[in-house]
Formats: sequence, C-alpha cells, structure tokens
Amino acid sequence: MAIISDNEEISKNQGSLGKKNPVVKPENIEYDKTFENSIRPKDFDSYIGQTSLKETLKITLEAAKLRDKPLDHMLFYGPPGLGKTTVAGVIAAQMGVEIRITSAPALERPRDIIGILMSLKGGEILFIDEIHRLNKVAEEILYPAMEDFTLDMTTGKSQTAKTLRIPIPKFTLIGATTKAGELSSPLRDRFGIIHRLEFYTVEELSQVVKRTAQILDINITEEGAKAIAKRSRGTPRIANRLVKRVSDFALVKFDGIIDAKVANESLDILKIDEFGLDNTDRALLNLIIEKYDGGPVGIETIAAALSEDVRTIEDVCEPYLLQAGLLQRTPRGRKVSPEGYRHLGIKVPSEQQSLF
Ligand code: ADP
Repeated sequence: MAIISDNEEISKNQGSLGKKNPVVKPENIEYDKTFENSIRPKDFDSYIGQTSLKETLKITLEAAKLRDKPLDHMLFYGPPGLGKTTVAGVIAAQMGVEIRITSAPALERPRDIIGILMSLKGGEILFIDEIHRLNKVAEEILYPAMEDFTLDMTTGKSQTAKTLRIPIPKFTLIGATTKAGELSSPLRDRFGIIHRLEFYTVEELSQVVKRTAQILDINITEEGAKAIAKRSRGTPRIANRLVKRVSDFALVKFDGIIDAKVANESLDILKIDEFGLDNTDRALLNLIIEKYDGGPVGIETIAAALSEDVRTIEDVCEPYLLQAGLLQRTPRGRKVSPEGYRHLGIKVPSEQQSLF
C-alpha cells in the first residue's frame, strides 16, 4: 500500500509524466529516431524467429480481441538484445493500443509509478524494462493494480489516516528482465504469460541481417549475411550493430558490397572471432585459465580483475559463453570448459579433461 500525503500530489505528478515517460504510439514506435528504433520490426511477420512465442501470442491476442478484454500481464525474460522490447511494441501495434515504455530504475519514488498508472487509458500497455530492479514499495503498488485494477492508498497521518481504493483503467503490464530469478514470487505470480526468449539460430540471424541491410540500403550477399550472423552471438541487436560496422568497412576499404570475404575480414579487424567473442569475452576466459587454473572462481573476483561491473559480466558476457559451452557455472564459481580452452588455442590440462 502506498502512502502519499494528499491527492494533490498525484495530479502534480501526472502533469510531469508527459515529459519523463513519453507515450509511444505503435505506428510511430521509432519515435526517437535512433538507429535501433528505426529498424525495429513492428509486426509478427518481420519479427524473426521466436516461433513458439509468436504462436502463443497470436492466439492470446486473437482471444483478447474476441472477448474484448485487455491482454493478460506478460513477463519476457532472457539476455539483452533478444527482442523483449520489440515484441512488446509488436503486441501493442497488433492490438491497436498505445504502449508506454519505462524501466524500473526510473520508478524510484512511489509517485513515479502511481502517476503512470493513473494516466493510463483502458487497454494500454505499460512496459517496464529491468523489472527485477523494482523496489518493494513500487511492487506493492503494482499488486492491486495488476490484480484488481485499483490503487490502494493511504492519505493523511496516523489516527486520521484513510485508505482509498482508486479504480484505474484496465491495462496490460509487460515486464522484461534479464534475471527472472530475481523477481519476487508474488510479482512473478501475477503474470499470466511468462516466456523466455531464446538465442537465435544462424539462419534466423541471417534474415535479421538481410532485413536490416535492406532498410539501410546496404548491398549484401547471402554468404555475407551468413558470415555476420555466425559472429552475432545469437543476438539480433549484435547482428544489427555488426551490419552497420561492416558496411563502413565495405564502403571505405572494399567496393561497397558485403560478401563473405568482406564480412570476415572486417570482423577480424574488429577483433570479433568466429564464435562472436570480443576482447572482453576472451579476456574473461584467459583470466580464469591463467590466474585461477581454469576455475572455479567467483564472479566478483572476475569482475574486479577485468575492471568491469558484475552486472555487465552476468548480463552481457556470460549468457552466451554459457550457451556456447565455453564457460560453466558451478556452485563454487565460474569454470572454463575444455571447449573454452580449445577455443583460445590453449591445451586442456589433463586434470580438467578427466573431470569432464
Ligand atoms: P531487448 O529488449 O530484449 O534488450 P530489443 O527488443 O531492444 O531487445 O531488440 C534489440 C534490437 O534487435 C531491436 O532494435 C530490433 O531491431 C532487433 N530485434 C530484436 N528481435 C528481433 C526479431 N525477432 N527480429 C528482427 N529484429 C529483432
């Protein structure tokens, strides 16, 4: 239950919302014209891969339309860049409703979340990124909002305190997180759909690369797209960034067309290897091998030695290294797998070999 001093506070906050949390119209989702938004798919046909998610969603959306009811609250989780924000935009566009995009760190004070909830219109989607970082108070405001579409608030002080139940329009909350395990169970239990986004296959990423190249008017061959896809760590955001960087090389150093040779040579210069690992990933594996005999070693120690923060290692580097089988997570810390040794061209110690 949120405690606020008076109702005036709420309306004041509503006034400031427009500036802090712009409403994004689905047909205009590239509102800020950044590179990423300009290539974001807006419908299920251009949203590549994630087949089981798309199938589930199409049915859920259709059913909600037939019943004329708002969609269930949804939670999408998985490493960054796999399309959680994008799919929320696609859902809004398909439902013909607006989406308000915010993130948990922007909802620090109770009035931040109250203000947003009170200004939503019926059927709208509220997208909260990094939802695992919501504080306890914000979570407690969300519970009745998600369940009964009400805000439970106490006004006044101690003996004169009054509890108000304020109805709010029926909305759909879409939460996104890289760490589903860090969500409190009462919050997790309030989502009707919980879906993990998967890394993309090379074929799917080739399609992402070709689509982006077409939007950006970049010349690319089938093999060129595949070469970039192979080094994109299963992640569309990375594939898109690489298309752009390789196209700069193609323009300046080659004849402007991205084929396999141009893609591979450019990516070599960018120090992105054939597994898609960059300098930080290789430094991480090297550190564990050279300083800690291949591990296990704690994440804090690794982060400190690499001068990176723990969150970057956990959210950005590790998921792919684990998925690619180069790193292993054990109760005593991280460990480089024999595959990880081989990838770096380092001989697997015989002791390690017998353990695997
Ligand atoms: P997340 O929210 O999971 O961090 P985003 O939704 O912001 O990831 O996606 C990052 C970028 O990758 C977007 O700009 C979008 O263009 C691209 N992208 C993500 N998923 C897909 C997909 N399924 N098909 C095509 N492009 C995608």
